Order: sequence, then structure tokens, then C-alpha cells
Amino acid sequence: MTTKLTLRPAARARPKQLLRKGNSNLGRDKNVWVFTLPALYAVLPDGTTVVTCPQAGTCALVCYARFGTYTWSNVAPAHVANLLFVVEDLPGWEAAMRKELAAEKFKGAYVRIHDAGDFYQDAYLLAWLRIIRDFPETTFYAYTKEILRIRGCIDDPGLPANFITIFSFGGDQDALIDEDNDRIGDVFPTEEAVAEAGYASQLRSDLDAISGSRKVGMAAKQRPQALRRQGARTFREWQREQDRRRAQLAGRRG
Ligand code: SF4
Repeated sequence: MTTKLTLRPAARARPKQLLRKGNSNLGRDKNVWVFTLPALYAVLPDGTTVVTCPQAGTCALVCYARFGTYTWSNVAPAHVANLLFVVEDLPGWEAAMRKELAAEKFKGAYVRIHDAGDFYQDAYLLAWLRIIRDFPETTFYAYTKEILRIRGCIDDPGLPANFITIFSFGGDQDALIDEDNDRIGDVFPTEEAVAEAGYASQLRSDLDAISGSRKVGMAAKQRPQALRRQGARTFREWQREQDRRRAQLAGRRG
């Protein structure tokens, strides 16, 4: 991965709006709003690198959010500015998010947390959980690879009823996903493969990921070379291959 998202000076001002209507992919869902971070990592103005998807595994090899519209000059700096706000002033970010969510239009609306990025640290996840609990009339949902971090927050006092998590395959914690009980997401090479595997497609609506079948699939939407790299595998299968290879290597070294 060679692309680095470096903040421009103009983007250093606090974002005026944290929640936006979804990109072309989510735009079909009229009442869905999105808050997002840069995918995988970003370099902040002081040179610090913040890893925003610490549990990314094979997904990072073909990450959809490191190319195309996500890198546009009016998009990438906005995502980095979101991260900078979180990193430099988490209480201020939380207050700004609460202020925005207090608007009438968010009652009955959906907020997708992260079109890219993840709950990269405990303090950030806990801030979201406080917010979510205080806005019960809004439904929040997130695809995440932070299985352990999320589970760690379930005990005390548990995930809010208006927060739906979809554990998505392709991460370093895939082996911890309970496929019989968790809501899960996988990336397939094609829509046909999604249907053949018995997963519900989220092609029609992103909200199908949280309202219908517990297993949701999406067709890969990467560049041709990334599609070739993924081949006929799903992210789940690809990650398993990688995990097996790692285990074999570790066994040889041990
Ligand atoms: S978790 Fe999502 S945003 Fe992060 S690297 Fe993987 S595919 Fe990209």
C-alpha cells in the first residue's frame, strides 16, 4: 500500500458538517447518513500516522476506499479532517456530533458509522456508544472488523438496541466471528456468487444489511487488477488462506 493521505492546510479547520448523505453507493438510501474516516491509515500534519483499520487483513490488499472517488480532492481531505478532529479533540468531536444529531431530521433516520475506517481505538468507540445511547430514535450501524473491541464493550453495559454491528470478513480477527450467531458480511467476486452462497445482497439497499438476513454479501467493486487479485475467493476464504499460511510459518519458526 503506497498511497498516503496527507492533510492540506485548508483542511485543518474543523469540519462544518460531520454527517453527510452517502456516496453514490449509499445515495440510493434516502434516509441514511454517514460519518467516515480515511481508510486504513492517514498521515496527520505533524507527521503522525494514525492507523484507522488496525484489524484490516486481506481486505486492505484491495481496499475499495483507497482509490477512485475516495481520493478526490474534495473527499480525501474531508475524511482526514474528520480523523484530525477525533484525534486532537475527542470531547469536542463528540459535542459536535451530538449537536448535529439533535436536528429533527435524524429522528427515524439511519447513521452508517464509517464508509471507510473502523473503531480504531477504545476511547473513540466508547464516545460513539455514549452518543448512540443518547439518540435512541436514530438507528446506527457499522461494518466492522473490530470484533474483540466491540465484544469488550458488550458486557458493560451492553450494546445499545439502536446499534447494529455487522462483522465483516477479511480482517485479522475473522477467526473470532461466530458465523452461527453474529450478523456477518462478506465480499464476493460477483452478485451471482452472493446468491449462490445464500447470502442476502445489499445491492438494492445498504439497509438490507441490518434489517433482513443475518448474512449479507456484496459483490467486489474494486479496480480490475484488484478483482484479479481476489480471484474467485470471498474475503472470508482469502483471509482463511492467509491465516493458515501464517500459522504454518509460525509452526516452522517455533
Ligand atoms: S476495513 Fe474497510 S476501509 Fe479498512 S482497509 Fe479494509 S476494506 Fe478498507
